[in-house]
Amino acid sequence: MYISTRGNYPPATASEVIYMGMVPTGGLFVPEKTPRLSPDQVAAMAGLPYPALAEKLLGYYLDDYTPEEIRESVKAAYGDNFYHRDVAPVAKLEGYGGVLELFHGPTAAFKDMALQLTPRLLSQAIRKGGQGRELLILVATSGDTGKAALEGFKDVPGIRIACFFPDEGVSQAQEMQMRTTDGMNTYVYSVEGNFDDCQNGVKEVFGDEAFSRGLASRGWQLSSANSINWGRLCPQIVYYFYAYYSMARASRTTIGQPMHFVVPTGNFGNILSAWYAREMGLPIGKLICASNENKVLTDFFATGHYDRNRDFYKTSSPSMDILISSNLERFLFAVSGQDAGAIRGYMAELAEKGSFTVDGNLLRKMQDLVWAGSADEKEAAEEIRRVYETHRYLMDTHTAVGSAVYGKYIRESGDRTPAVLDATASPYKFSKSVLEALSGEVYPVGADESRLAEILAERTGIPVHPALAGLDKKPILHDRRLKRGGIKSAVEEIIRGT
Ligand SMILES: *Cc1c(COP(=O)(O)O)cnc(C)c1O
Repeated sequence: MYISTRGNYPPATASEVIYMGMVPTGGLFVPEKTPRLSPDQVAAMAGLPYPALAEKLLGYYLDDYTPEEIRESVKAAYGDNFYHRDVAPVAKLEGYGGVLELFHGPTAAFKDMALQLTPRLLSQAIRKGGQGRELLILVATSGDTGKAALEGFKDVPGIRIACFFPDEGVSQAQEMQMRTTDGMNTYVYSVEGNFDDCQNGVKEVFGDEAFSRGLASRGWQLSSANSINWGRLCPQIVYYFYAYYSMARASRTTIGQPMHFVVPTGNFGNILSAWYAREMGLPIGKLICASNENKVLTDFFATGHYDRNRDFYKTSSPSMDILISSNLERFLFAVSGQDAGAIRGYMAELAEKGSFTVDGNLLRKMQDLVWAGSADEKEAAEEIRRVYETHRYLMDTHTAVGSAVYGKYIRESGDRTPAVLDATASPYKFSKSVLEALSGEVYPVGADESRLAEILAERTGIPVHPALAGLDKKPILHDRRLKRGGIKSAVEEIIRGT
């Protein structure tokens, strides 16, 4: 069963928590107990292909889904829609154990690893207990989540999906990816303003109880597709096992030996999934948490003081530009021994004054698990160039932050335990920044990113990600613009079917 991090909701089943998204009274759902595997059980799964491994591991968490339902979903999620037959291959890179490439899905960022599956779990959840309502998923996005959610939910029966992105704030490739989405149930809007305006608009709609009641009486339920939903975290556990086994198969470790993971972090969802894998019995050593200039987590893991009252930087790794890492709440709950009272206190302080401090005991426990560091814009760009020039391996801007932080970890600790770095996006999703890092040139704002991607491919010989190739030639299917405050009437229109 799943319980709330704030102790304010009765235990619920997997399908119920995936349907609800988050605890209606505030808080996040977590498994009451993490399933524990013996070393023999861990070793026994080593040879499995990705879908079979996913089926096994998800079976431990999705208690009220039948084995057939899980098998069917997993087969559809991790098949031909990925451009690599291993789904999440581990590339070899000198100086690291390896690089776990999580960007071979249909939208070229790691969000696909979960979002190809979550919608299927959600539509099964509707069948189990959804009271016959149709679901409308609202997503405010600063780039990667929007397109991944659109692709995942496209043409899923019983569900419509609407994405809202700030008209000043996403990369050109990201905007084109969203605007060219097909499917009968997809809606895309740009919203006047920045990401906060967009996010606040969506939150207002969620928070309007009268509006929700009105929708319910017409057979509609709103839900969310970001990583506060357990249905997004749980599929991510799989690739940590898969990477570990890949390293063993390539004789870069033996099963049973510890391995670190380096994770470029924003909302703390990806790294939290690694922690779940560790709790289940996978021999993970340290979780290395990498931040960009918005280094609220680095400071927190150093001092125990979380403080969002600081300047917000727009960086070239926009998916990590975040000052409130939602999934940290789940981590604090687990490491504190499920102390819901303490979590309520921290979250109340965070809401009221934007900061909180954990006690020394909890801080030490967290520091045993997590090593946190940050890299600024210059360090990340230099890392892209250094890694390409020494290894001919091309990293995107987010992965480069991880790589630079791992370098700092090695220099500080001297620790040579094998480590795997998560590559969270294709370099072609951020062609302008990557090309600038390699060449030292600066391209004008608004430069044609499809053209820059071609130049990058010519220069490196590495083919453009198939999901991004020819984006400029696809027809624009969505061109609606909303004024600030226009989200609610857009929702009305979607439901009326206009
Ligand atoms: C979302 C995202 C991240 C951050 O992941 P979290 O789970 O939010 O910590 C890092 N890199 C890329 C490319 C992303 O899209």
